[in-house]
Amino acid sequence: MATREAAFAPTQLTLYDSLRRAKVPFVPVRENKVSMYVCGVTVYDQSHIGHARVYVAFDVVYRLLQRLGYDVTYVRNFTDVDDKIIKRASDSGEPWQMLTKRFIDAFHADLARLYCLTPTHEPRATAYVSEMISMIERIMERGHAYGSGGDVYFDVQSLKGYGSLSGRGLESGKGAAQAQERAGIGVGSDAGIEVAASMGMQAAPASAPPTPSHPPPDQALKRHAQDFALWKASKPDEPFWPSPWGNGRPGWHIECSAMVQSLLGSCVDIHGGGRDLIFPHHENERAQLAAAGGYALGEEGKAGLQGGSCKEQPSEACCPRQPASEHVRYWLHNGFVDMSGVKMSKSLGNVLHIADVLDSHHPTALRWLLLSTHYRHPLPFSPRALDEAADRVYYAYRTLLDAQIWAAELLEVESEAFEKSSRRSVDNKPLVVPPAPADTASLLELLKDDVSTPAVQSATVEPLHELNEALRRRHKSLKGAEQRAAQLALLIARCSRVNAALDLLGLPWKQPAELLHEMKVLALNRANLSEEQVRSLVEERNEKRKAKRFEQADAIRADLASRGIAIMDTP
Ligand SMILES: [Zn+2]
Repeated sequence: MATREAAFAPTQLTLYDSLRRAKVPFVPVRENKVSMYVCGVTVYDQSHIGHARVYVAFDVVYRLLQRLGYDVTYVRNFTDVDDKIIKRASDSGEPWQMLTKRFIDAFHADLARLYCLTPTHEPRATAYVSEMISMIERIMERGHAYGSGGDVYFDVQSLKGYGSLSGRGLESGKGAAQAQERAGIGVGSDAGIEVAASMGMQAAPASAPPTPSHPPPDQALKRHAQDFALWKASKPDEPFWPSPWGNGRPGWHIECSAMVQSLLGSCVDIHGGGRDLIFPHHENERAQLAAAGGYALGEEGKAGLQGGSCKEQPSEACCPRQPASEHVRYWLHNGFVDMSGVKMSKSLGNVLHIADVLDSHHPTALRWLLLSTHYRHPLPFSPRALDEAADRVYYAYRTLLDAQIWAAELLEVESEAFEKSSRRSVDNKPLVVPPAPADTASLLELLKDDVSTPAVQSATVEPLHELNEALRRRHKSLKGAEQRAAQLALLIARCSRVNAALDLLGLPWKQPAELLHEMKVLALNRANLSEEQVRSLVEERNEKRKAKRFEQADAIRADLASRGIAIMDTP
């Protein structure tokens, strides 16, 4: 099949690394293999659209790496012990293990509906406590942590380079302490994602206490205000694990470091999460891994990251081409969800849970919207944006279905010409056009530029327009086999390109009729109309148009549009 793309030389994948603050070529430490760790949710509540954004974004990264031929090990954890979990369990009387299991199941259901692939490993923090204790012991042996009052704290002043990921050096005084407190020192943080009013303005947790006028109790146990907890002594009636420092539980940051090292080893290619995790969570994770591994962090994080790939299994000292100054080769962070300038928080009652959004909108619409902005930028989210995304995907699938039904009809005519005796019926069944390798390859080039999903979405505009133009002209008879063959070729080429884009974005493309039916049911629910009511309004509008009462016809169309039902006129 002819394609319009000129021949191109495949380019290299580039990713924006938060540490180097630049888009850099991606070279994994092991040839053909990629390890990726993405911080997971704290399972004490339903997941919201901020979570959906992170995990859909990294799902596209996961798919992209696989498309590029890498054998990817993708780890996404669950934080299943935490102050919020304990509080919610004790408030409701539900055992905390049951509560976390319930929300893990709900998280899986939400992400499956959003077409996210299952990671290679989904460790629960509580299954790795002995690894966390071992790592804390190593950090203490190397002189980077100290015990105090049953807790263990990381000594931030002992590690050269601390703060270079977030660009926050060691501060002195109350500001530093408050920053760590607000963001959660180890225990008691939401490993999930705050949804803020705008980029760079992280929303404070709704339950954040007023600024204390005196240091909180554990500040008195620390050497420096920014020291963070690796281990916390448990309070009565809290879950605990025995340790060399007494009964207690791990801090949030050490959980991820221990799971990273246990499952992915000493060199991790990609470590990702929401941008609110850069400080303190990822800053502290990076410090812990360096301290446990016995190396200083690179000055400004720039040392020794330009190396090529290596076939050796990395050891504690990593491999010769990867100087042991960084455990993570690429730090990836996605932007916030921007709720039209309004912070999403429990106190405002405007938290949008994934399950609630999917009660009214099709998962393809939500996934389309989440990928319509580059993952690093703030994502404008509003009911209108969601409706527009729903219209966009409806238009795409409607066009694909109509074009593919017509393609099937043309194919039938072709086959009849050759085999007049074996006449068969098409029954309005579309010809499912798989993405041609050339289309997938050229769209992959767009994604290789730091995962530019909006560019892939834009690449569907022209072929969809051309398909609609062709459909508009379809009633003009196609004279001769040559014209029909050319038309069929055009339909197949354009459908292939759109399907290739949907496929790379992780959206379904094989069953447009079923998807359209599901979307129609949801749209009617949103409009509070039955299919019969819509049909009679459309008929009424058609009559007004025939009678040249265009103002009245337009009023009906506008009324339906205001309820989220768009009329696609056919000639
Ligand atoms: Zn983490």
